[in-house]
Amino acid sequence: MHACQDSAGSNPQTNMRPLQMVDTKTQYLKIKQEVDAAVISVMESSQFIGGKVLNDFAIHLAEYNGSKHVIPCANGTDALQIAMMALGLKAGDEVITPSFTYIATVEVAALLGIKPIFVEVDKQTFCLDPKAVEQAITPKTKAIIPVHLYGQAANMEAIMDIANRHQLFVIEDNAQAIGNDYTFSNGTIKKTGSIGHIGCTSFYPSKNLGAFGDGGAIFTDDDALADQLRMIASHGQSKRYYHDVVGCNSRLDALQAAILDIKLTHLDEYIVARRKAADFYDKAFSGHAKIEVPFRDNNNKHVFHQYTLIINDANRDELSQFLTEQGVPNMIYYPVPAHRQKMFDAFGGSDFNLPTTDWLTERVISLPIHTELDEEQQQFICNKVLSFLE
Ligand SMILES: *Cc1c(COP(=O)(O)O)cnc(C)c1O
Repeated sequence: MHACQDSAGSNPQTNMRPLQMVDTKTQYLKIKQEVDAAVISVMESSQFIGGKVLNDFAIHLAEYNGSKHVIPCANGTDALQIAMMALGLKAGDEVITPSFTYIATVEVAALLGIKPIFVEVDKQTFCLDPKAVEQAITPKTKAIIPVHLYGQAANMEAIMDIANRHQLFVIEDNAQAIGNDYTFSNGTIKKTGSIGHIGCTSFYPSKNLGAFGDGGAIFTDDDALADQLRMIASHGQSKRYYHDVVGCNSRLDALQAAILDIKLTHLDEYIVARRKAADFYDKAFSGHAKIEVPFRDNNNKHVFHQYTLIINDANRDELSQFLTEQGVPNMIYYPVPAHRQKMFDAFGGSDFNLPTTDWLTERVISLPIHTELDEEQQQFICNKVLSFLE
């Protein structure tokens, strides 16, 4: 997934702009003046850590997300780790997570000695299957960690209901879905990342709200939890040089905050551009016998961090290779599900039997999607996919 710059060679027979999985450069050039001025201003102030720029960004992000507190941190992986530490999760506890996800979600649990209990995802949404979650609960379970994969929200209404009934914490991994509006059956609308006890996100450059380096943030409405999260992210200190708990050092720097503060004002238009690109692909592919276009659940508004197809009755790996040869970047997110990673051998990863996860892992393929795709590029991509699958 960390392949944000893998551009394919430009095509000799057209003047088409080169295809890339993500085009952060063109996106930057459109806001260059604003961004450059903000970066220079931070450099002239020499306030590189903390300070007003960072605090302003945290306030703006909290407003955007409808969360009471935002704790900026160094990256999305740290955000998840700090969340688990702040909730008091410890070695021997269990957390319920999908296996069909990016490794960071579960790696930090293992790092803390917490056992990841891998459960199935829903075949349509690619996100945690609430029925599987309920079945996996044991007396050791402390938290559920739904991942809003590819930009689509997990079934948060069902997950919150299960968590409330069993008194479990919910940590949302919102690294891929910032800006998604989730609607509950009573009509309440909330942003993903503001629904669970804690939400986590990443500002990795290729994410929908991407920094020019690493960054992350933690969301919560709970005042006491916010204090705890802030303390853990800052060497466990309640007051400078007074360290109450074992923490870590996880900061978002002011340069990244300045850039993100500007990009946040564009996030909604970026999401619109991603949805428009997804609509174009949907139109080209829907109804094709061998292609399943991304499902759009009516309880949330997909933000298309990825545009991921399911390929049926054709060799997905051969399609991927063909596209690469034809100059169409494409990715398999993710080629090995978490429970089958060597990393989890010691946690009994291979004991889990997850046929839906395996089924999806063999069939998914992600096409270029970002804010700067034009129709000529998309038509070229669609033609190549369709020519292989005929
Ligand atoms: C990107 C990502 C993370 C980790 O974020 P980093 O900033 O790269 O540490 C965690 N979970 C998911 C689902 C992600 O996509």
